[in-house]
Amino acid sequence: MNGAVAMEATRRRTKSGTNGKLSEDGEEPAQWGRAWEVDWFSLISVIGLLCCAPFIVFYFVMACDQYQCSVSKPLIKLLQGETTLLAIWALTPSFTWTAAKIYAIWVAFQVFLYMYIPDIIHKFIPGYAGGVQDGARTPAGLINKYEINGLQCWVITHVLWLANTHYFHWFSPTIIFDNWIPLMWCANILGYAVSTFAFIKAYLFPTNAEDCKFTGNLFYNYMMGIEFNPRVGKWFDFKLFFNGRPGIVAWTLINLSYMAKQQELYGHVTNSMILVNLLQAIYVLDFFWNEAWYLKTIDICHDHFGWYLGWGDCVWLPYLYTLQGLYLVYHPVQLSTPHALAVLSLGLVGYYIFRSTNHQKDLFRCTEGNCTIWGHKPTFIECSYHSADGGVHRSKLLTSGFWGVARHFNYTGDLMGSLAYCVACGFGHLLPYFYIVYMTILLVHRCVRDEHRCSSKYGKDWRRYTDVVPYRLIPGMF
Ligand code: NDP
Repeated sequence: MNGAVAMEATRRRTKSGTNGKLSEDGEEPAQWGRAWEVDWFSLISVIGLLCCAPFIVFYFVMACDQYQCSVSKPLIKLLQGETTLLAIWALTPSFTWTAAKIYAIWVAFQVFLYMYIPDIIHKFIPGYAGGVQDGARTPAGLINKYEINGLQCWVITHVLWLANTHYFHWFSPTIIFDNWIPLMWCANILGYAVSTFAFIKAYLFPTNAEDCKFTGNLFYNYMMGIEFNPRVGKWFDFKLFFNGRPGIVAWTLINLSYMAKQQELYGHVTNSMILVNLLQAIYVLDFFWNEAWYLKTIDICHDHFGWYLGWGDCVWLPYLYTLQGLYLVYHPVQLSTPHALAVLSLGLVGYYIFRSTNHQKDLFRCTEGNCTIWGHKPTFIECSYHSADGGVHRSKLLTSGFWGVARHFNYTGDLMGSLAYCVACGFGHLLPYFYIVYMTILLVHRCVRDEHRCSSKYGKDWRRYTDVVPYRLIPGMF
């Protein structure tokens, strides 16, 4: 809850950018962006996360490696004194230079694709927005340009992977699984290095000083980030690169490696593994197909770049978002046909809601309301807000389509899809369900955090919107 609480604290305590003046209707003028001051609760949450998140990743990965993916067994054995943390640590595969080489080649290859292969596929695929695109307006009033080539990078990487698997045999398709824990140490090194670099860079040579936020608390600054859009040179954008690649490009490769391991160990691939690969690949491909749209999401247009994004994208995402596939290597679940069909339907319906809701907002914003949603002219609420440079801007909040059903129905669809991945693993263990628990916490927190931000940004206009659309995720419930 740290972001939300801090945001609220900011709203109450700071007057920067508005000079403390009241607006014409006597309200405190709307202001937005990340916190300037940190309360104790936020600080404790930040330190707790910095200490616990790496341990959580280690715990899950080690539970699979040493305890056949049982979440409770290591804890019970520790509590009963049958093992010790030192004994578990001693059994955990350590850093290897082989893994370091694989990881360095992987990251360097993604940097190369991102920086040196400008997008050409948008010229051939109708409806795909690639190439140079505008980001959203930052709190300081800037609009950054981005080279969108994620889909191309994903395609090149996967074509090479499949070519290797079927023709070249340069390396085993199980290479990721076989080096999973040593690779985790390498991912941690990169995650901490990039977060620390971004932290120091913000003090010494920020890309855009007006969009930096210093709270005065080092832990909070390190975790939540100072710079808004740190860049090296004109094009190497930290947020776009680390959010999308190497983590999300790796997601589908990691799943393919798990699938190859199942084949190697058991001589066949289960339908649950195919479902997890398929549903998650749809999600990943959707992400890259809509990368230009992603520039307008919270990660890019509201969050600053700190450990939360830097380490999270390098370690948390590839290691915890892929737990279902890892579990299925240890427990090859073959689902009955009705179970498999139910999982597929849940995943596809969830994806449809997620995509359509996001698309409706995007269409509405791009056309400034000159479009149709569910066959009708959209309804909306007119709003205004201030940027830090004193500018007054106008915006609109959509109140029809899925945005009239609930204020974050895109999250609801996302959660349905996430549940489908977990249910695909059957009901034998808790570990594959970590994802839905985590996504629920993430998206509910994100929803609350976003609503504090929107309320700060739009003031009374936001309240008019919440009167029209009273529920956040599930109509009638929440
Ligand atoms: P949204 O795409 O919902 O964007 C929220 C922003 O949209 C608000 O800050 C506001 O910004 C604007 N907005 C809010 N209500 C309206 C409205 N009625 N009409 C028009 N604009 C509105 O949130 P996210 O960026 O968090 O998420 C994007 C997608 O990414 C979601 O589908 C989510 O499920 C997914 N996601 C997935 C994650 C994962 O790890 N798998 C993590 C996070 C997100 P403004 O200031 O422009 O008005």
